[in-house]
Formats: sequence, C-alpha cells, structure tokens
Amino acid sequence: MKQWTETQKNRLIELCADAQELVQVFEDETQRNKTFQTLVTALVKTQKIKLGKMRDKERRPGLCRLSDQLVEALTGKGFVQVTTPTMMAKNLLEKMSITDSHPLAKQIFWVDSKHCLRPMLAPHLYYIMKDLLRIWEKPIGIFEIGSCFRKESEGARHTSEFTMLNVCEFGLPMEARHARLEELAGLVMETCGIDDYKLETEESAVYGSTIDVVGVEPEDLELGSGAMGPHPLDDAWKINETWVGIGFGIERLLMAGDKSNTLGKYTRSLTWLDGVRLNL
Ligand code: ATP
Ligand code: MG
Repeated sequence: MKQWTETQKNRLIELCADAQELVQVFEDETQRNKTFQTLVTALVKTQKIKLGKMRDKERRPGLCRLSDQLVEALTGKGFVQVTTPTMMAKNLLEKMSITDSHPLAKQIFWVDSKHCLRPMLAPHLYYIMKDLLRIWEKPIGIFEIGSCFRKESEGARHTSEFTMLNVCEFGLPMEARHARLEELAGLVMETCGIDDYKLETEESAVYGSTIDVVGVEPEDLELGSGAMGPHPLDDAWKINETWVGIGFGIERLLMAGDKSNTLGKYTRSLTWLDGVRLNL
C-alpha cells in the first residue's frame, strides 16, 4: 500500500485539500500519482474560483475584513481606536522591564541602537493612556490594531510579523475587572465567530499572572493574553489606576475561526492572498 509522498502531501496542503484527502492509501504508485494529478487539477480550479470571488466581491483579505469588524464592534462599545508608530523607542521597552536579560529581548528586531520594531502594542498604549487619563473622564477604553514583530523559532503558530489587537480600559471599579476582561474576550470571540474557547490563568514574563483566551478547535491555541492592574509595571508609566488589557493575534483569530492548524495562509504574505496560495 502506498501513501502520498511528502512533496505531494505538502502540495495538497497548500491547495487546501481536506483532512480525508490527505490520508488516502493506494494500491501502487501509478494509481497514487494518477489520483494526485486529478486531485491537484480539481483543487487548483477551486482555489482559482475562490480567488476570483475575492476579486469580484470582497476585494479585501480576511485580515482586513476581520480588523474592520473588530473596529466596528469595539468603537460600538465606546472604545477609541489609536494609531501609534510601528517603531518603538528602547526606553519604552525598558519601562516594560524588557531589558537585555529578559527572555523577550532575544526576540527583538533592532532598527538602530535606540529603536526597534514593536514586539507588542502595550508600551505605546500605556504612553498615550497617561495623557488621556489627565484629559478625559474615566473609564477610558482605547485599542490599537497593528503589526508587531518578534524573532520566533516555532513555525505553525508563529510568524515574525503578526497583527496584534490590543484593547484596554482604565479607571473601572476594582471588583469589575475580571468580569470586564471576560466580557471583552467574549466580544472579540463573538466578532470572530469563535464559539468554543476557554480562559486560562498563565504566568507571563512581562505581566506576572495573565488570563489567556484559548481556542480549542482543532487543538488548544492561545488566541489572546489579558492582564489587570494596578500592576508593578504601572509605576514606570506614572499610572496609578485600575485597568484591564488584552492582546490578540488577528492571524490566530482567523485561524481559529476557520478551525485551521496552520497560521501561514492568514499572515501578511507574498505567496498567499486571502488564504489562496498564489502558485496555482
Ligand atoms: P505564544 O505563547 O503563543 O508564543 P505569547 O504569549 O508570547 O504567545 P503574547 O505576548 O501574549 O504572546 O501576545 C498576545 C497574542 O499575540 C498571542 O496570544 C497571540 O495570539 C499573538 N502572537 C504572539 N506572538 C505571535 C507570533 N509570533 N505570531 C502570531 N501571533 C502571535
Ligand atoms: Mg501570551
């Protein structure tokens, strides 16, 4: 009995073959290779139709569409969108306690001796919040959606450039924080069409204890990490306030929404367009 070769299997995965098609067995190589050709032809046709529909109808990839839906959902609940620079000053990372000995330090892309590509949105949100707390009445909710960059070694769930959504709310009653964090996680999950998820308490290198939002299908996948303040990091930002904050990877949200186990086709890419591999 013969199975797909590694190369055949990879090509079928690229072409979004379904799980059943990937585990077929054949009498001999000739039968296998013939089936491969027929299957590839059919899959290429399907992918071309999909890409054609995207061109005629939505005209925007899922990453942009979901970002828009999240903007609508969050602004609808009173959160204000902010747009901060993609480049981050080293001293802001230091304020997050990310100095040279910190585990995240090895993952930073440095642009020059004083600037890096932001690995997270939180430092800039803290920065802005300090001023907004002076100007606006509390509670104040803001969010940002934008690229973050980390040197990663793992493949299927990590990419060096990903899109983060970070939502935070400052100045809410102390006892309301936990429920609010759950509510925000629920709002994001609902917007993404993810109905199966769980909340887990984790230890984080930056925030101490965090509350993770974990997707469960097809397997456990961290979708977001939330934290609460007052927090030891707040001092460095001269913030003395209650808060909740939660950061999600948009590509992971798309992946979970599709019940997929590979991130590749949802990322900013030169080889994929809206989940379709361009070498058709
Ligand atoms: P993980 O443990 O999966 O590496 P993390 O805990 O390091 O993630 P956080 O710092 O909590 O990640 O970032 C918030 C969210 O951003 C994560 O829950 C995940 O959805 C997303 N994310 C983080 N790193 C990446 C990456 N390299 N590629 C894609 N998404 C990422
Ligand atoms: Mg995390």
